[in-house]
Parts: sequence; structure tokens; C-alpha cells
Amino acid sequence: MNPSAATRRPPLIRCREVRKSFNGVEVLRGVCLDVARGEVVCIIGPSGSGKSTLLRCINGLARIDGGSIHVDGLDVHDPATDRLALRRKVGMVFQQYNLFPHKTVLKNIMMAPLHVLREPRAEVEARARALIAKVRLQGKEDAYPGELSGGQQQRVAIARSLAMRPEVMLFDEVTAALDPETVSEVLVTIRELAAEGMTCVLVTHEMGFAREVADHVYFTDAGLIVEHAPAADFFNRPHDPRTQAFLAKVL
Ligand code: ADP
Ligand code: MG
Repeated sequence: MNPSAATRRPPLIRCREVRKSFNGVEVLRGVCLDVARGEVVCIIGPSGSGKSTLLRCINGLARIDGGSIHVDGLDVHDPATDRLALRRKVGMVFQQYNLFPHKTVLKNIMMAPLHVLREPRAEVEARARALIAKVRLQGKEDAYPGELSGGQQQRVAIARSLAMRPEVMLFDEVTAALDPETVSEVLVTIRELAAEGMTCVLVTHEMGFAREVADHVYFTDAGLIVEHAPAADFFNRPHDPRTQAFLAKVL
């Protein structure tokens, strides 16, 4: 992206000194992270370092104990913030697809716009069909999740999130549970979204993919951001010894 764009406009996501504890154990210990509009940010780090918790705090699924998170100017953890407005802005896709098993692909994608946003059915259906085409699942409109491969189900999950027309998509290890042969079809979908300018935050262990699509990489360890840098710098010249050790293991 144009580097000056990031400095001209406030970040779409701004996390400041975010703290979060579970049962007295602090798992986010003052996390600061900015995501500019149109940017792709990858969050990388060892298991248990707080990556999923951070994403869940960004979309308001988990409460924070300190600091602040703003998404497109909305204070995510201010009780006065309109939850629906937040839900519209932030889409999230998980490792488990969480599709409704008794609903068809089309119905899964239509549900939130119909019942949460209460948009007109014809419009919702037209958009859902377009999204099915976008994630390359034409012909699967009437299939049930159980009839699809993992990669196909994950693409339905992505389409379902996109049906809310979010400003940003959060992806939490969305390929981690997939058979190797279906990983690439999901990565293709994410790559296309990123190329269209969708703001994306990806927690991923796919280092090759991170290197290719990310504008910025954040490295987490034990609840802290220990390093963040433009992707090329991050992978070519990691500074922190913890980043170096991690990359030495996974690359
Ligand atoms: P990551 O996604 O980087 O693997 P997580 O954010 O899932 O890390 O977890 C960070 C830490 O918080 C881990 O020690 C994990 O056990 C703990 N944790 C996460 N969610 C909960 C929860 N709901 N209750 C208690 N502990 C949790
Ligand atoms: Mg996780």
C-alpha cells in the first residue's frame, strides 16, 4: 500500500497497552498494535503467547482489563459502544468453521444479514450468491456443511463473515485444522481479499504466506509484542533474539 496513506489517516485498529488476565494470570501484558486501513498484518508467535486472546479482544468477544482498543473510531470496550455497529465492522474467522450444520451454505451466509441486520431477503440472497462465487463455491449453494471438505467449509465461513460487509477481517489460524491439500484454496481466498484492499489481521503459522501477503508482522511472546516490522524486514532481519529463535525453528 501507499506508505503515506497510513500516516495520513488514523489507524483502523488501534490497540494501546492492552491488558488481559485469566484467573489472575496476565496473558496480554500491555499490547500496542496499529492496523492501517487496507493493510494486511500478520501476528506470529509461539502457542500460548496471547494471539487468539488479542483477536478476541479486538472484536469484543473477550473483555480487557486495561488499556484501550479502537476500531474505526469505536471504543470496543466502552459499555456505551453500540455492539451491532462493532459486529458490522469486524468479521472474524476461526480455526473451527462454526457453521450451522443443519443449514445450507446459502442459508449459513444469509443468516446474519437477514436476522441481525434485518436487510431485505432478495438483496441478502443476491449478495450471498455473489460471495459464494467469490470464494469459488458455485454449485454448493444448497449443500450442507457436512458434505463439504474442510477447505470448502472454511471458505463458507469466510463468505459468511463477508456478508456483514466488515471493515476488517480477523483470521485466527484458519488453515491450521485443514488437510494440506485444501490449505491453498483458503489462502487463495484470503490473498484475493487482501489484493482487493480488505484490511486483514491474520494469526498464522504459514510463514511463506505471511511473508508474501503481510505489510507488517507483529511477533508475540508471553503476552507482549516483542517485535514488529514491515514484513520484509521482519523475515530478513529479525532483531529480537526470541524472534530469531522462533524463525530459525519454523522457516
Ligand atoms: P495463542 O493463541 O497465542 O496460542 P491464547 O490467546 O489462546 O494464545 O492463550 C494465551 C494464554 O491464555 C494461554 O496461557 C491460555 O491458556 C490462556 N487462555 C486463553 N483463553 C483462556 C480462557 N478462556 N480461560 C483461561 N485461560 C485462557
Ligand atoms: Mg490461538
